Amino acid sequence: MDADVIVIGAGLSGLACALELMESGLRPLVLEAAMQPGGRIATDQVDGFRLDRGFQVLQTWYPAARHWLDYDALDLRPFYPGALVRIDGRFHRVSDIWRRPGALAEMLRSPVGTLGDKLRLLRLRRRALAGDLEHLYARRETDAPSLLRGLGFSEQIIERFFRPFFSGVFFEPSLAVSSRAFEFVFRAFALGDTALPAHGMGEIPRQLAARLPPDCIRYGQRCTAIEDQQVILADGGRCSAAAIVIATDGGAAAQLLGRPAPPTRGTTCFYFAATRAPIDGPYLVLAADGSGPINSLLCPSNLAPAYAPPGQALVTVNCFDSEAAPESLEPAVRQQLGAWFGAAAADWRLLQVYQLRAALPGQAPPVTALAPVRPVRPGLWVCGELVAPPSIHWALASGEATAAAVLAAYRDRP
Ligand SMILES: Cc1cc2nc3c(=O)[nH]c(=O)nc-3n(C[C@H](O)[C@H](O)[C@H](O)COP(=O)(O)OP(=O)(O)OC[C@H]3O[C@@H](n4cnc5c(N)ncnc54)[C@H](O)[C@@H]3O)c2cc1C
Repeated sequence: MDADVIVIGAGLSGLACALELMESGLRPLVLEAAMQPGGRIATDQVDGFRLDRGFQVLQTWYPAARHWLDYDALDLRPFYPGALVRIDGRFHRVSDIWRRPGALAEMLRSPVGTLGDKLRLLRLRRRALAGDLEHLYARRETDAPSLLRGLGFSEQIIERFFRPFFSGVFFEPSLAVSSRAFEFVFRAFALGDTALPAHGMGEIPRQLAARLPPDCIRYGQRCTAIEDQQVILADGGRCSAAAIVIATDGGAAAQLLGRPAPPTRGTTCFYFAATRAPIDGPYLVLAADGSGPINSLLCPSNLAPAYAPPGQALVTVNCFDSEAAPESLEPAVRQQLGAWFGAAAADWRLLQVYQLRAALPGQAPPVTALAPVRPVRPGLWVCGELVAPPSIHWALASGEATAAAVLAAYRDRP
């Protein structure tokens, strides 16, 4: 046996699973196809800029993230709680008035929704924050727009705020996602900061991986099949263990299990270098004018200077379209940026494009929280998005719950 438990994949779910197993006294071995940990959470360095692989953030409320991560060491830099929304040729600030009560008067005047809508936010907040997560995921389910309409919100605030803001979270332009998934995310935004680590999102998995002994993770090891208690590697090698946990993305997990791949949602993220940031402050900018391919924009270096070399600014532009070739999307992106920020945007230098066709699984109803963990067959387990909703919270929670179930089974062995 090469280990007590083999974990396939060093994303957040695999790392949490391996750490939990190790801390409980078992010997895990993580086999990771890439040359670094983190899976979908990674930061590349290009010309002195730090580029997260697609727009991603840490929501500090996530219970599993608070359990597993050292927030002080990540040196988290929060966004403004709200956004700047582009409507009718102007940017309007939307604020979470529970976290920025001083912005109440501005919010009441804002054209983002009606006065009634702003009062209905109180009702939505009370609803989304009530009860624990088990309770939240057991609620009667519909899609997010139907939930919002049912609560009396106008089409104006749905189109000018909810759709651009939350569809960017789910990579689902129509926002046709489960109301449970929507309320989970709403709760996360309401109860904590939305933040970037000072040195990039990749610091999150690096921090976890650093807690595992180096010989516990092998990089560049793609698993192609599982036979009994053996994992077959792309180079023909084999590793064996009493238990095997698949902690890959949903598509790879489905392939290893011989199941159909789950549907996914994508995004394309453009990174530009600018001599000056087009906005001041730690804002997420939302496109609610329907005038181009952009969903949102931010300047990570406004939050965390290490994202750009001295004297330069990093601009992130996110689009829903993950099918079009980036070269064919770029002219429309630049045209929209020109309309927003004038001629200066034409000089921005394109640093990198991330075309992420399978960024997240689709989250149309039905969506359930973590089901009780059971082996696929004796000795074979799955964690991550095939058995849990996507997100940093659920990836960590699923890894931990799977490790607990594996441990119980391991200890009960004859
Ligand atoms: C652009 C983007 C933005 C996001 N934004 C947010 C956000 O703001 N907040 C949030 O909470 N969540 C966000 N998410 C979702 C979150 O990142 C994921 O839900 C979470 O990281 C998934 O972790 P995981 O360990 O389950 O899977 P993954 O991160 O996919 O890790 C799986 C690992 O398995 C490895 N692997 C795959 N196949 C094999 C194989 N055959 N053999 C060996 N190894 C293999 C992969 O290389 C990878 O390292 C975002 C995701 C993306 C892509």
